[in-house]
Amino acid sequence: MKIVVIGGGWSGCAAALSAKKQGAEVALLERTDMLLGTGLVGGIMRNNGRFTATEELIAMSGGELFQVIDNNLLHKNIDFPGHRHASLYNVATMEPLIKNFLADKGVDIRMTVRVTDVEMKGDRIVAVTGRQLKKDVRFAGDAFIDATGTAGPPANCTKYGNGCAMCVLRCHSFGGRVSLAAKAGCQEMNGEKNGRIGAFSGSCKLHKESLSREIRDRLDTHGVAVVPLGDNQKLEGKLALKACQQYAIAEFEDNVVLLDTGHAKLMSPYFPLDLLRTVPGFEHARYEDPYAGGMGNSIRYIGMAPRDDSLKVNGVENLFCGGEKAGLLVGHTEAICTGTLAGYNAAASLNNEKPLILPSSLAIGDAIGHVRRQMVAKQERGLKFTFSGSVYFERMKTLDLYTTDQAAIAKRVKAAGMDGIFREGS
Ligand SMILES: Cc1cc2nc3c(=O)[nH]c(=O)nc-3n(C[C@H](O)[C@H](O)[C@H](O)COP(=O)(O)OP(=O)(O)OC[C@H]3O[C@@H](n4cnc5c(N)ncnc54)[C@H](O)[C@@H]3O)c2cc1C
Repeated sequence: MKIVVIGGGWSGCAAALSAKKQGAEVALLERTDMLLGTGLVGGIMRNNGRFTATEELIAMSGGELFQVIDNNLLHKNIDFPGHRHASLYNVATMEPLIKNFLADKGVDIRMTVRVTDVEMKGDRIVAVTGRQLKKDVRFAGDAFIDATGTAGPPANCTKYGNGCAMCVLRCHSFGGRVSLAAKAGCQEMNGEKNGRIGAFSGSCKLHKESLSREIRDRLDTHGVAVVPLGDNQKLEGKLALKACQQYAIAEFEDNVVLLDTGHAKLMSPYFPLDLLRTVPGFEHARYEDPYAGGMGNSIRYIGMAPRDDSLKVNGVENLFCGGEKAGLLVGHTEAICTGTLAGYNAAASLNNEKPLILPSSLAIGDAIGHVRRQMVAKQERGLKFTFSGSVYFERMKTLDLYTTDQAAIAKRVKAAGMDGIFREGS
């Protein structure tokens, strides 16, 4: 049984591992020369309800990637405005650790493979085709997972944003995102808000070396630096543009909020460089990602696949999806959780087993169902959902799903009959 995962972001990595653990032969195809996708420039884990979701997945025996991350943290259990008990991984060193981990588990990782088309037989995909640099390639399989994300290609960043900001996805070098679900004939959905399609990614990276010694010391010691802005330095309205609603609170407009992820993660979709350099300590600031972070950022949440709660894509018999492709879910934790379920169910479908739907007594199960239902209503596609804040974290608290008590989480997973469900050969 062969499963082909397209897209090597956090969701594709999790899907590949999960399918492999269920005995499938797995190929993971990534169009660039690095795994992790937007996770190459992220780093924030375990903030607010993400802690609960992480521990749920660990209790379900699906937490190996979280364990690799936990072993590569720069800061643990830190607070920043609106967020508690966050961990920050080192973005500079994360990717090879995950790549080696997956390779050791037997995942066949193929880099610089950009899938551009599908071969169908009725409602089933039989193979995906594309290019590996200058060579034509074809990968046949029994089930497929679309983990291509929702960022780019540059035409979308130009049409719906401020132009290509030259982000880590490097579309000009490796070719832009191509959606597998769309190629298989799916009518995809877009995030929409106030008449705008998609949303700006919500953070940039500054070279730490370009900041004052005092700010660097605060970042190295505490992981966080909050620097107040003067009235003439604030960019009013930029929070409304963000994909990450969990950071759309006043503190992020009134201050420069920096987090230490190896670089200085600037919690703003963009910030004109000349204006930023007027803030004390930022006189020599320079962007590391996106290179044109003074001007804009990548546009995301374009091309999400309609799917059910097992993460099977509607209308295609053997196609599953994870991460942002599975809906308006923001975050690495969210991508790892959905990717794990997609990989598991892709393997289950080939064994003629009933698909697994996670119960709503668990935050992960509730989120997957809730986001699907919300997305059916077009007016809700302006919202973004994450365990870490905004509307979904509020829902977690209302439903009593949020807790940092690891024993209580393990007990809840057991009560739902889900303990160990993702273990090898389950
Ligand atoms: C700047 C930025 C900062 C962020 N910071 C954080 C953070 O600190 N914490 C957090 O939790 N979340 C953060 N996020 C959000 C988070 O990164 C994403 O929501 C999540 O990681 C998405 O994972 P994914 O696998 O669904 O998609 P992606 O990360 O977009 O991965 C998709 C992958 O598919 C590949 N691909 C696309 N098309 C093809 C094709 N046709 N063939 C082969 N490969 C293809 C792409 O190259 C890419 O590697 C951030 C996002 C951005 C943009």
